[in-house]
Amino acid sequence: MVNRSFRARLVCCLLTTGLPVAASALPAGPEITINIYNDARVSEGILSQAEHEAARIFQNAGLDIAWIACQPSKTSPITAAACRSPLGLTHLALRIVPWSSHLGDSIFGSAFLSKDGDGVYCDVFYPSVETLHRDSDASSSRVLGHVMAHEIGHLLLGTNAHSALGIMRPHWQGEELRRIGMGTLLFTPQQVRHIQARLVSISATLAVSDERMNNEQ
Ligand SMILES: [Zn+2]
Repeated sequence: MVNRSFRARLVCCLLTTGLPVAASALPAGPEITINIYNDARVSEGILSQAEHEAARIFQNAGLDIAWIACQPSKTSPITAAACRSPLGLTHLALRIVPWSSHLGDSIFGSAFLSKDGDGVYCDVFYPSVETLHRDSDASSSRVLGHVMAHEIGHLLLGTNAHSALGIMRPHWQGEELRRIGMGTLLFTPQQVRHIQARLVSISATLAVSDERMNNEQ
């Protein structure tokens, strides 16, 4: 029997409130690069569709995503040069792992953030993705894409807090599962503004840093 009341809980390690929301305009064409570590050996077809799904969700937030396939180090010591690039808010890393949290299989992933909201790494627990897929009408690739977007969303928002609406809801039940199936579970306008504000802030900081380096040369 399909369990429509399945409550999919995503890890929330740090709860913060009172997110500052700035309305700064984002420079045209911001791109977020994401290293993908497919430890769970998700098939190429499913992963490709999931990346497409997550990219579509971020396009709705005005962001372009560039995925970089990084092989697990145990099986392949050779990785793309970009996999060794410095990581920051515009270059994140997502690992799809073949296990679930010890807290239970209803937890889909974890975003690793400092108390200041800084972090570049997140995990997705693939067995939990498959569980939700089985309990819904949404394909595994579509569920995976949404969970990837949710965990990346924590990094971009700089918080493990959740919201009452949209893709950052902590619990995915009947309504969320239907919206995943329809592709309409997205970031809220407030979350989009917050992500954009953080990226603008990072961009400004880098620009000042570059200017100082140029002046010192
Ligand atoms: Zn979450």
